[in-house]
Amino acid sequence: MKIAVINSGSSSIKFQLFEMPRGEVLAYVLIEKIGEFISDTTFKYQDKKLTVTSVVKDHHEGLEKIISLLNEYGIVKDFASLDAIGHRVVHGGEEFHSATLINEHVIQKIQELIPLAPLHNPANLEGILVSRKKAPLVPQVAVFDTAFHFHMPKEAYLYAIDYELYEKNNIRRYGFHGSSHAYVLEETSKYLKKDASALNIITLHLGNGSSACAIKNGISIDTSMGFTPLEGLMMGTRSGDIDPSIIFYMQKELGLSVDEVDTILNKKSGLIGICGKNDVRSILETEDEKAKLALTMMARRIKKYIGAYMALLGHVDAIVFTGGIGENARDVRAMALEEMACGIVIDKEKNRENETLISAKNSSVKLLVIKTDEELYIARESLSILHH
Ligand code: AMP
Repeated sequence: MKIAVINSGSSSIKFQLFEMPRGEVLAYVLIEKIGEFISDTTFKYQDKKLTVTSVVKDHHEGLEKIISLLNEYGIVKDFASLDAIGHRVVHGGEEFHSATLINEHVIQKIQELIPLAPLHNPANLEGILVSRKKAPLVPQVAVFDTAFHFHMPKEAYLYAIDYELYEKNNIRRYGFHGSSHAYVLEETSKYLKKDASALNIITLHLGNGSSACAIKNGISIDTSMGFTPLEGLMMGTRSGDIDPSIIFYMQKELGLSVDEVDTILNKKSGLIGICGKNDVRSILETEDEKAKLALTMMARRIKKYIGAYMALLGHVDAIVFTGGIGENARDVRAMALEEMACGIVIDKEKNRENETLISAKNSSVKLLVIKTDEELYIARESLSILHH
C-alpha cells in the first residue's frame, strides 16, 4: 500500500511516500520558502538526491511540483491512485483523541481550532485542502500532535487559574509532539519486548522544540508542553517555564508590546537567549562560558522533569531520549543524567558510542536512545484507519 504523509507548514511542505506496512520510504520531498522570491526543493528517492530552486507561489503549486516529480521519476504515475494521505495537524483541541478520517466536519473543526494554534493549524489545513483537490477520492487522515495526550487526567491538564477560563475559553494544557512520544513508546515496547500497555516510561523529545512526557501503562499522564509549545523544557529559541510575572514586568516596566514579548519568549529565548546560538551542534563546538552555561541550564531542566515524572510514575521501566539532541548530543544526555537520584546510572562508554541502551548494568531504570519518526507514525496511524 502506498501512503503519503504531508506535513504542511506556513512556508514549507514536507512530503514522504511510504510503502506500508513495511514502512519503506519511496520518496521524500521538502519544499521550503514557499511564497518567497525563490523556493528550495529537496527530492530524495532510492539513494539519489536532487535539489532544485524555483518559484513556488503557494501550497497548491508546491503540491503540483511534488506530484510532477513523483510522476517524472516513475514513482507514482497517478497521485489519485494513492491508498491514503496522512496529514500532520498540530492542534486537535478537546475534539480529537485519535487519528481521524477527514471529512467536511473534521475540516470545520480544525478551522475552529485555529485560535489555539494560529501559526500551525492554518498551514496544516492548507495542505489538507490542496491535497483533497488533487486526490478527492483518496482517504485522507488527520493525525494530531495533541491526540496522544488526550487522556491526561484533569489534575494534569488544568492550570490553577479561574476554572471558567477553562470552561469558557479552553485554557488548559494540551501537550504536543504526541506523534513522537507515541512512536517512541511503540519502539521501546519492541526493544524491551514488553507490551506498550504495560510500560511506564519517560520520553524526552529533545529537538529545536523539546518536550518530556510521563507515560503510565502506555498512556500519557503528563507532559511538559502546555496550552502552547512554549511551556516546559528549555528549547532552542523558546524559554520553557518562566514566572508569568516576567511578562507583566516586561510590558509595564520595560514598555514592551504584547508582540515584542511574544517574540522574545518564542524566538529569542532558550539556548539562543543565553548564548546567541540555538543549534546544539554549533554550541558544542564553542568554547565560551555562555555556551557551556546554556547547555548546563538545558540539562538541569531535563533532570528536573525526569525527577518530577519519576515521582508521578512510581515504577519506571525506561527513560528514552529522542529528537535531534536526544539522539545525538551525548554530552547533554550525560549532563542530564549525571549524579542522578533513584539509582539511575548512565554507562558513559555506551553513551559516548550513541548506543541504544546507555544505562549501566546496575541502573534501576533502563536508559534508551531511540530515533523518532513522526512521519512513519502518521503513515501507521493512517493505515490503521483504513483497516477500521
Ligand atoms: P530536531 O529539531 O529534532 O531536528 O533537532 C535539532 C537539534 O538537534 C539542533 O539543536 C541540532 O544541533 C541538534 N543535533 C542534530 N544532530 C546533532 C549532533 N550530531 N550532535 C549534537 N546535536 C545535534
